[in-house]
Amino acid sequence: MRYIEPHAHMVSRTTDDYTKMTLAGCAAVCEPAFWAGFDRSSADGFYDYFCQLTEHEPKRAAKFGLPHFSWLCINPKESEDVKLAEDVIALIPKFLDRSNVLGIGEIGLNKNSRNEMRVLEMHVDLAARHNQLILVHTPHLEDKLKGTRLILDVIKNHKNVRPERVIIDHVEEHTAKLVLDSGMWAGMTLYPESKCSPPRAVDMVEVYGNERVWMNCACDWGVSDPLAVPKTALEMKKRGHTAEAIDKVVFQNPLKFLSQCPKFKIPGV
Ligand SMILES: [Zn+2]
Repeated sequence: MRYIEPHAHMVSRTTDDYTKMTLAGCAAVCEPAFWAGFDRSSADGFYDYFCQLTEHEPKRAAKFGLPHFSWLCINPKESEDVKLAEDVIALIPKFLDRSNVLGIGEIGLNKNSRNEMRVLEMHVDLAARHNQLILVHTPHLEDKLKGTRLILDVIKNHKNVRPERVIIDHVEEHTAKLVLDSGMWAGMTLYPESKCSPPRAVDMVEVYGNERVWMNCACDWGVSDPLAVPKTALEMKKRGHTAEAIDKVVFQNPLKFLSQCPKFKIPGV
């Protein structure tokens, strides 16, 4: 089996995880910028993080034969401080030409607050001005439906963003259709127990189809599973999905979306 891991926070993971992912057939890994588990005290903290995502982590991944790509932003959890967000967003253009940067992400909302909305709009505008792909995080639990609607509206209202260049991750049963109907891509972010489990993700593929969807593990410093995508592929196999249908969801679809950025290249593909 081959697969692309389109959303994994590898700076939080051990080298064992890189080995396991490679053994499981991972052909490339993409790492969106996110919350470190604590709030950074200044834009300098983000400058160092962006260097880690664009210089250090690709070298670490290369030792395991894995091409590594990244996305840049200030995550929604730290977006409450608008001045900090402005300072961080001002740093991003210098990094956009780096060879492993695919776009702006994971942006979005956490608590659906007014300040988060403002920072989301700033990010969408930044992506539009620099012709970047967009990767979005949606809030969890009771805020998810409302947050997803707000995010879709912000993106749809920007005349220079094409929906097929946006992926909304963390979709669930009640938001997948909304996202797909908007023309954007839907990402199923897999968790070992809570939120979207592998069986629930396969249910969604069976209900909503396999066009414009991808799966990702979003493994980070919390309870998460770097092998969630191949485990979901196995769940598809158990249910009788063909090898071709599985390859489409875990390899060809992310390849299609990510290849909209000319920098996304996997050796031999
Ligand atoms: Zn994430």
